[in-house]
Amino acid sequence: MIKVDTILTDGSVATMNSDFDLFSSGAVAVRDGIIEAVGPADRIAAAYTASEVVDCSGCAVIPGLINAHNHAPMTLLRGLADDLRLDVWLMGYIMPVEREFVRPDFCWLGTQLACAEMIRSGTTCFADMYYYEEAVADATAQAGMRAVCAETVLKFPTPDALSYDESLEHARDFILRWKGHPLITPAVGPHTPYTTTAELLRACAQLALEFDVPLHIHIAETAQEVEEHRAEHGMPMVPWVKKQDVFEAKVTAAHCVHLDEGEMHTLLHHDVGVAHNPTSNLKLASGIAPVVRMLELGLKVGIGTDGPASNNDLDMWEETRLAALLAKGATSDPTALPARQALAMATIGGARALHVDEFVGSLEPGKRADIAVVDLRSIHNAPKFTRDREALYAQLVYAAKGSDVRDVMCQGRWLMRERRLLTLDEQALAAEAANIARKIDLFLIQREESVLSKLLAIGQVAQEKTFEVQVKVHLADATPVEDLLDRPEILVIKPSLRRQYDTYFLFDDPYHSRLRYREDELLDEDSQVQDVLYRLTLTGETKEREYARSVLLSRSRFDAPATRSLRFYREYFKPVAEIEVHKERQRYHVRYGGTDFAVNLDRLMKPELAGVFLEIKSRTWSRQDAERKAELIGELLELLQVQEGELVRQEYVELATDSGA
Ligand SMILES: [Zn+2]
Repeated sequence: MIKVDTILTDGSVATMNSDFDLFSSGAVAVRDGIIEAVGPADRIAAAYTASEVVDCSGCAVIPGLINAHNHAPMTLLRGLADDLRLDVWLMGYIMPVEREFVRPDFCWLGTQLACAEMIRSGTTCFADMYYYEEAVADATAQAGMRAVCAETVLKFPTPDALSYDESLEHARDFILRWKGHPLITPAVGPHTPYTTTAELLRACAQLALEFDVPLHIHIAETAQEVEEHRAEHGMPMVPWVKKQDVFEAKVTAAHCVHLDEGEMHTLLHHDVGVAHNPTSNLKLASGIAPVVRMLELGLKVGIGTDGPASNNDLDMWEETRLAALLAKGATSDPTALPARQALAMATIGGARALHVDEFVGSLEPGKRADIAVVDLRSIHNAPKFTRDREALYAQLVYAAKGSDVRDVMCQGRWLMRERRLLTLDEQALAAEAANIARKIDLFLIQREESVLSKLLAIGQVAQEKTFEVQVKVHLADATPVEDLLDRPEILVIKPSLRRQYDTYFLFDDPYHSRLRYREDELLDEDSQVQDVLYRLTLTGETKEREYARSVLLSRSRFDAPATRSLRFYREYFKPVAEIEVHKERQRYHVRYGGTDFAVNLDRLMKPELAGVFLEIKSRTWSRQDAERKAELIGELLELLQVQEGELVRQEYVELATDSGA
């Protein structure tokens, strides 16, 4: 008789090995954190004795589930902002909050919270990508879980690095400190092709190769990023990433929603693992990854929850069931992605996708003892059939729930017994999380109070004011102004012809803020577009003086390049109304009496004013809104610099001077 530490006996053991061996009633013997033997319960009982024998009758014994893509600390951002488009969600909410709050202690707490949730639902290993990955690794190791932890590398400043050189440095330090840890596999995480650069991707790949560690990256999550990539680089995303030698490393690519057949072959050829994240892809409407085709080709596909801010939970049971159902729905084929294959993706497939299948992912002698015991005696699992032994997989994937997981072991150490966590204090974690949530809430409530603070929050503008004095008048005929500019005492420095498409966002705030998104086309002599500039300008915070007909005012302006789409700003700022103004602008920089002026002669192309008024009038306004409606019309008039009686006039010329003061 061989002495081992623990024997789990009398359960239905789904080994998930290459033959999909099932033992019912089966047993697993564990010694020194390693699986010593797996087989029929009577044969194990005849060969091994153990100080601890765990009765698993009525239960399934399976490999601990592997969450192939996660951002564990984001448990603390769960439910922060939902039902938004990916860019608004990420750039508008998640990243600003991360800049403000994400510190090592935040990541440590968030990870412990995530570990508690994952252990409860039978996950023993996850792939992570976040900031301060050192804290993530430490919190995970203390919880007794296994993880492949990738330190995020981005081309712009992150919560833990001011530059990409610094984030590469952090990744290197992190790898050096954690390489060889029994539970943690350090890795490098270039965030995406579009948030890094070719140079940065090359550096990350070199780092991964130098230390023989995995590389974790998001690839082709949205159609938009894929289209933009193709437009910018003239080739699809996967071959471009390959060109940077990224696939020389052991890569896990998260999402892969928008790949063509050729790209899938490239991933296969380079042994790239794929992390399929069905909930996140559906919730953010990114699409459905072609996993059935990937599996047909032989790609290593695992299942991930993605971060808990876009899911919003870390339950691999839900995720696995959804992966199976979605594949059937997407291919109109109920035989696609059957239960056994789905459970394989959540276990050995995930291990392969993360390049850790040598150690985990199946119940086989010599592998680490990462095991989950699932109690199948609950009412939603009743009754049971014995005709088809493989019905166990269907039971696990389609009927069982995360809360059916009774016991969890990682590397031979119990993390949960009889649904009681042994390495984590859930109540203390929940209380600390509530504390952080209160602070984040307050931060966002304050931010949402003003358009300026929302603008500053997305890092679009330096907190600098410019002041200007403008005079605007209506001209029926521009000739007198042009004659004036010909006079010798006026020096014309730089004339230009532009076509400007302005969208004004109007807000219902006490500052009467107005945010202008301007697409500014610079035209050459033949009226061909030479260059296009996109700018955002916030005005309206202070306005010193204003006259009824011609306007003289001084006000602060916040001005910045507009790096995102009009749609992004619309969804992020949620204006109460919008006005579009298109005009052709003859612009002169002139010097007169030692002062620089800008003279703009504008010809209005849009709106047809009657149409705008119709639109404002046709909106459904409640009685309380009547006052606001009148105000909006007033603001519109002011924007257009017209009086109500002049609305019929289709042509409109404006003279404005502005100068830095
Ligand atoms: Zn992700």
